[in-house]
Amino acid sequence: MPNKLLLVAAENERMRGIVSQSSLTRGIVHRFVAGEQDHEVIAVARRLTGTGLRVTIDHLGEGTTTLEQAEGIRDTYLALLSSLHAADLAAAAEVSLKISALGGSLPAGGYDHAARLTHDVCAAAAAVGSTVTIDMEDHTTVDATLSILDELRTEFPWVGVALQACLRRTAADCRRLAHAGSRVRLVKGAYAEPASVAFVSKREVDDEFRRCLRILMEGDGYPMIATHDPKLIEYTLRLARDGGRGAEDYEFQMLYGIRENEQLRLAANGYRTRVYLPYGRDWYAYFMRRLAEKPANLLLLARSFKPGSAN
Ligand SMILES: Cc1cc2nc3c(=O)[nH]c(=O)nc-3n(C[C@H](O)[C@H](O)[C@H](O)COP(=O)(O)OP(=O)(O)OC[C@H]3O[C@@H](n4cnc5c(N)ncnc54)[C@H](O)[C@@H]3O)c2cc1C
Repeated sequence: MPNKLLLVAAENERMRGIVSQSSLTRGIVHRFVAGEQDHEVIAVARRLTGTGLRVTIDHLGEGTTTLEQAEGIRDTYLALLSSLHAADLAAAAEVSLKISALGGSLPAGGYDHAARLTHDVCAAAAAVGSTVTIDMEDHTTVDATLSILDELRTEFPWVGVALQACLRRTAADCRRLAHAGSRVRLVKGAYAEPASVAFVSKREVDDEFRRCLRILMEGDGYPMIATHDPKLIEYTLRLARDGGRGAEDYEFQMLYGIRENEQLRLAANGYRTRVYLPYGRDWYAYFMRRLAEKPANLLLLARSFKPGSAN
């Protein structure tokens, strides 16, 4: 399970200052983040799609505190979609977004602002032939996120959403969303959640992932299996074989910089595989969640702080 201390550090402003401003951390950050500017992420998207992978691009940023900021993030997505179209990448590249980045946590009218701004991004994606998936944040945001999803799907039935197997409610959410045309990204969950709402041991989360996966794979929707876990990837392939689900009726997703050989292997074997490609200046919280998932990543970070290090 993710390292709790690092997840707390992901929310800590002082740590954010220390890690974000150190030039020493840049090398390891670039392993997980595609750059800070549009042209950098477009270049990485071009390289990855050239190898047969698909991508979903996330403009990093969460916890937006003003409406101007939220509208700025909406505009960033509109510019990104237009750049993807200009680069002829819109079919192989979709975008991922967070409701909190688009105003969901604003104290006044957050829900309405986020619903409106997310709608703008979906309309822009539709105009260039791309799609959108909504990331899932901590458990307090799930109801609002799914409600915005339901509203959006009346006009854009292809809008996808992430569901977190660690949450006790998720099997029921999977059942509700396992219908024709519904794109659901199943993940384990990256946030520190209380036991009252979440499974906490790795074993329980893995078991629940299997249970949710079965619901999605046996349903009529389009499951997006977002894990690097070799056992769960094998299990997905077995469920697909046993259930007669074709390789075009589901996809694997993995994060940029993690198990890249496996991404390429799956794509080369004819399995749809999409890489989650984050970019932008506000990479700190995302980066810390990646460190929290794997203790070995901490060693890379520690080495980058050593005097004389090239990182
Ligand atoms: C495409 C995609 C989208 C996601 N979207 C969301 C979302 O919207 N909301 C959310 O809460 N979470 C999201 N996540 C994160 C997810 O919840 C997990 O935290 C993350 O994927 C790690 O879990 P795992 O399934 O890979 O399994 P784990 O059991 O954590 O990992 C399995 C193996 O994968 C490798 N691995 C996993 N993580 C790392 C890492 N950081 N560095 C190096 N190796 C690693 C290791 O070899 C590890 O043994 C997303 C993940 C992916 C792949």
